Amino acid sequence: MRWGFIGASNIAERVIPSLRKIAGQELVAVCSRNAARAAQFAAQQGLASAHTDLAEMLALGLDAVYISSTNEQHAGQTLAALDAGCHVLCEKPLAMSLSDAAQMIDRAQAVDRVLATNHHLRASALHGLVRQRVADGAIGRVHGVQVSHAVFLPPHLQGWRIDAPGAGGGVVLDILVHDADLLRFLLQTEPQRITTVTRQHGLGHGTVEDSAMSLIEFDGPGGGILAQTHESFVAQHAATRLHVLGTEGALYAEGSLTQAGGGRLWLRDASGEREIAVPTVDLYEIGCGAFVRACAGDGAPLATGVDGERSMAIALAGLASASSGRSVQID
Ligand code: NDP
Repeated sequence: MRWGFIGASNIAERVIPSLRKIAGQELVAVCSRNAARAAQFAAQQGLASAHTDLAEMLALGLDAVYISSTNEQHAGQTLAALDAGCHVLCEKPLAMSLSDAAQMIDRAQAVDRVLATNHHLRASALHGLVRQRVADGAIGRVHGVQVSHAVFLPPHLQGWRIDAPGAGGGVVLDILVHDADLLRFLLQTEPQRITTVTRQHGLGHGTVEDSAMSLIEFDGPGGGILAQTHESFVAQHAATRLHVLGTEGALYAEGSLTQAGGGRLWLRDASGEREIAVPTVDLYEIGCGAFVRACAGDGAPLATGVDGERSMAIALAGLASASSGRSVQID
């Protein structure tokens, strides 16, 4: 496929080498709002052309675009790319409103193109194993999950994420949206309510939160599942943790909620504690690979547009909860 990149972003620099590992991909062009940045990005990444006009780049006759611009641009850029006949791999959050997300999904269906959301944590071998063990009943009936996804935002990313609500800044749309998707992926069920408290702990400016804790409720047999998530931009030297608690045992992971594709996993049950070996994988290569196959009519992307819409619905309900001080029903 011939690819264009919308957004001369940090994450695109990370995704491009992974995409290059997949056979048959031709990386052609980048579009940025800034001509100098577009030219520099194209030169650094070995792309033949650099653009500031999206229509001009889309006129190159591309097969697919990867959208990693700031969040408020995702919807309009996705619609333009779909209308130009491109498949779209879009970063999370898919959009800034559920109505925009629905429009993106509808348009992809109407023009028969693939729309995928880059929820990279689904590609983790560790998370795949946890999902499998949960589905197999290896830890009995799951009743609780704890997700600690608190990190320190490195200085080069301390831009729109901490001071621009209009661009989708804040830890809820940045990280809770991933945790929401991961919970749906691991548990294979949908949450009903969320209660979120947000704070500023030194990095967020204006109305932008840099820390959040949520309680996410999944209705179901035996009292359903309570999930607790913690997202932060200000947690220095913290390890990420995932703890899935069942009636017969528990799965515990450290270090899997990152871009690195690794982590360690333990199972605890009546026979004691044992570590389960899991390979470290390239999350972006796996995600892009599934997307490429889906574009060729082989299977579905790891996270579809609908998955992106659902993770957004949970995160937006979390923001509504934080501002109202109440539990919010997830749309
Ligand atoms: P960046 O801040 O690196 O890039 C976002 C936009 O900011 C770019 O498209 C670019 O605009 C502009 N920009 C980049 N560098 C500079 C600079 N030095 N000076 C001025 N403007 C600059 O964001 P990220 O790469 O961190 O995130 C982009 C998107 O990807 C977001 O939607 C985010 O949520 C998502 N993301 C997803 C991850 C995942 O693993 N799934 C991980 C990280 C981010 P322009 O293109 O117009 O030049």
